[in-house]
Parts: sequence; structure tokens; C-alpha cells
Amino acid sequence: MTESSGDADLRALVRDVPDFPSPGILFRDITPLLASPAAFARAIREMAEPWKARRPAKILGIEARGFMFGAALARELSVGFVPVRKPGKLPRETVRASYGLEYGTDTLEIHRDACAAGERVVIADDVLATGGTAEAACRLAEALGAEILGVAVFIELAALGGRARVDPRPVHSVLVL
Ligand code: AMP
Repeated sequence: MTESSGDADLRALVRDVPDFPSPGILFRDITPLLASPAAFARAIREMAEPWKARRPAKILGIEARGFMFGAALARELSVGFVPVRKPGKLPRETVRASYGLEYGTDTLEIHRDACAAGERVVIADDVLATGGTAEAACRLAEALGAEILGVAVFIELAALGGRARVDPRPVHSVLVL
């Protein structure tokens, strides 16, 4: 993998795993991408591109794979990082939101003081599928009074309609599968 490698090379580092974690789900495994320093760096540069002109104050990364992409994205943009976590993980006062996802239902939490009113933020995750997870993270940020500049994901599964669920907030994806 070289610095000039294209999106075809990024795609080749995502492994499709049928029937994981449950029958009928085609799981997109990004661990080969994470293991390639040049490809991971390229993925993060591409994720960061739209937010260089309109820079957020913070990236909000969704547990757990959103931490990997979100923290790297925050470093790329030299902005702060905020974890959006599964219930019971954050030690101080939180706000929570529940949502349905491709396989089951879940709840997310954010520290109540994680964002200031009017602060501009970008939500980050690895995969946008039905959009329920990203939309719940958007609702959490908005409950704190933050302004969502958009949602940044490495992979968008277009057929699952996540972009429409997150609408009118903009979505930027590196790979559309
Ligand atoms: P959704 O709420 O349906 O957009 O699902 C997005 C969340 O679930 C992300 O945090 C992904 O990590 C995970 N996810 C959903 N579908 C997949 C998939 N097919 N492959 C890998 N991760 C997925």
C-alpha cells in the first residue's frame, strides 16, 4: 500500500463477513484497514476533507469503532474528541438516547457537559447502515445545544438508507457500498 493508493485499495482492506454477528448480516470488517498505516492514514485524510473548510470544535465518536475513526479524525483536524458511549460507561452526569439498529436495539450516552451550546461538532463512526446509531448521536449532541455540521463515516451502506434517516444533517462517507 502506497500513499497514492486509491479507494479500490481501501475497499480491498474491508473484509465482508457473511452472517456475523447474526444470520443475514454482511459484516464489514475494517480491522485490515486499521492494520495498514498508509491506508488508515489515507482513510482519515479523506474523512477529514470536507471539515477543513468548515471546522468543527469537536468530533463525537460513537463506541466502539467510532472511537478509532473519530479520535484519528480529531487529531487530523487538530480538534477535540468526545466519546459517545454505551450505557453505564461514562462516570459523570449523562444524557441518553435509544435507537434501533440493523441488528437489535441500543442506547447511547454522552456527558452532559461534553459540548457547549452552539458548539459545532461532527459525528464519527465506521459504518453508516440504517442510520439509527448516527441519528441518536446527533440527537444527543443537539440535546446539549451543539450544532451538527455533519456525520463522517468511513463506509456508507447505501441500500440501508442511513443518509435519509440522518437527513437534513449532511453525511460524508469515504466508501459507498
Ligand atoms: P446503524 O445504526 O444501522 O446505522 O448501524 C451502524 C452501527 O452498527 C455502526 O456503529 C456500525 O459499527 C455497526 N454496523 C451496522 N451494520 C454493520 C455492518 N454491516 N458491518 C459492520 N458494522 C455494522
